[in-house]
Amino acid sequence: MSLLSIDRDLARDSYYAATAPRLETYPSLKDALTADVAIVGGGLAGLSAAIELASSGLSVVVLEAGQVGGGASGRNGGQALAGLACDQVTIEAQLGLDEAKRIWAMSLEAVQMIRQRSEQFGIDCEWQSGYLSLATNARKAGELKAGVEAMAQNYGFAQRWIDAKELPDWIASPRFAAGCFDAESGHLHPLKYCLGLCQAARDLGVRIYEHSAVTALEHGPQVRLSTANGVVRAAQVLLAGNIYLQEIAPDLAPSLSQRIMPVGTYIACTEPLDAARLKALIPSRAAVCDTNFALDYFRPTADQRLLYGGRVSYSTASPRDLRRSMQQRILATFPQLQGLGLDYVWGGFVDISMNRAPDFGRLGPNANVYYLQGFSGHGLALTGLAGRVVAEAIRGDAGRFDCFSKLRHRSFPGGKLMRMPALVLGMAYYRLKDMF
Ligand SMILES: Cc1cc2nc3c(=O)[nH]c(=O)nc-3n(C[C@H](O)[C@H](O)[C@H](O)COP(=O)(O)OP(=O)(O)OC[C@H]3O[C@@H](n4cnc5c(N)ncnc54)[C@H](O)[C@@H]3O)c2cc1C
Repeated sequence: MSLLSIDRDLARDSYYAATAPRLETYPSLKDALTADVAIVGGGLAGLSAAIELASSGLSVVVLEAGQVGGGASGRNGGQALAGLACDQVTIEAQLGLDEAKRIWAMSLEAVQMIRQRSEQFGIDCEWQSGYLSLATNARKAGELKAGVEAMAQNYGFAQRWIDAKELPDWIASPRFAAGCFDAESGHLHPLKYCLGLCQAARDLGVRIYEHSAVTALEHGPQVRLSTANGVVRAAQVLLAGNIYLQEIAPDLAPSLSQRIMPVGTYIACTEPLDAARLKALIPSRAAVCDTNFALDYFRPTADQRLLYGGRVSYSTASPRDLRRSMQQRILATFPQLQGLGLDYVWGGFVDISMNRAPDFGRLGPNANVYYLQGFSGHGLALTGLAGRVVAEAIRGDAGRFDCFSKLRHRSFPGGKLMRMPALVLGMAYYRLKDMF
């Protein structure tokens, strides 16, 4: 089975799709158009760039192969977090502390953008502030504490430390040894947010096309994008296609696909709980993540369910016992939920880069094809900022974009066929480390 058909199956039983009605549909491209900027991909990254570009008066076309928000942006864990998927030390090692601080500040801006845009465009995306990071054993608690202290000292970023004694006030679970609370980050309904951004883009004059897969790209001062029934010519192009790009159009930008790889991650959503019972689990109503390499992440929803993610898959095949294994994960964290039903179970693929840092850059002889990828499971907030900085670069101020594009990335070894087994081996090592 192809990754695209597995992904379609995984999307079917999503809580978000069931609770965010699609009030708008967009036509399929059947014309020859011109635009200042053409964007491939109607997820959060593409839509964010579209909003920024259209707000500054440029003409923009968005081409989406399926439905807007139908990829990772509309079915993720909803955790909008500061920082990147990799830690700041990885960035410091490559760019030095000053540039790493610049990137950290942009990641905070990314979280703030969600609140600003929700207000500006009237998007009710169920924003809830607060993020709890929890260590599953004493060794990890020590590492977490050292990280909290380093972030306070080097970045002036204050988080509240929660020791074992205080922990029961924050989480009703036997699984954790200590944690920290970040008041800046938070969580939301990602599909409501994404569809709201799409309407905002349309209201700003962005021409949006669904069911319009881009299958070919010809470089030049005017880039030519082809779909089955149409063509767009644009002075600048943004590729924001996530892992789908290499599946839909493998020849379009082959150099990009070597630097990311699709990793499956899965989510379950329980039936509604009594509000007091849910509050007793996570009194702050924060988003929660453990600090494991293969992590569990969960949060309460606005309609009083527990939304619980985890269980990565490094082969693209979907786990056969998914519902049962998600139930077991939830019970390992909250044994008191024995007997609670799951109303939805779904999943998707994240685009991990080798070092888990985002991968932004330019392609082609005219360097007028930009790309954004490698969010590595940490893109809900960061895609917004990515769209903003790529728009700045397209308008001629590439300072912030190049802060990211300077990051060096390695290709996954072994090409498309061999990189998966190599990663499975690597992950087995980290899983083992997670246990101790
Ligand atoms: C299950 C899951 C849980 C996650 N949880 C979190 C979380 O809690 N917090 C967090 O920060 N991040 C999370 N993530 C990651 C986050 O969702 C992504 O980083 C982010 O949504 C990526 O946005 P995007 O716009 O780059 O990609 P997408 O939203 O995937 O959009 C890309 C779009 O491009 C389109 N496309 C691709 N190729 C073409 C083409 N040739 N022509 C036309 N269209 C094309 C695709 O159809 C797709 O709609 C999660 C991801 C998954 C899958």
